[in-house]
Amino acid sequence: MLAIATPVLWLVAVLLFLAIAGIGMMFMRGIASVRSTERIEPEDVADLDVFFVCRECGTEFQVTKLGEVQVPRHCGEPMLVVRRPRHQPIEN
Ligand SMILES: [Zn+2]
Repeated sequence: MLAIATPVLWLVAVLLFLAIAGIGMMFMRGIASVRSTERIEPEDVADLDVFFVCRECGTEFQVTKLGEVQVPRHCGEPMLVVRRPRHQPIEN
């Protein structure tokens, strides 16, 4: 009796796993599709000289393309958004 019941239990376990995994995938796809509709075209901001500066360690990232406005974190803190004037070449 036990020799028959064990494969049945395995089958039930596999079916349950597939059902849960399928629901999970559908849920993830739902989130992904919502995000894709909110996505905006990345804007080219290389000419504006925008930098993200870390207040803790001084690391700087230059922003060349700006998509969703979300300030990155560094050293566990949100980075400062700094706009610097462009360095003018020294004329001789
Ligand atoms: Zn840092």
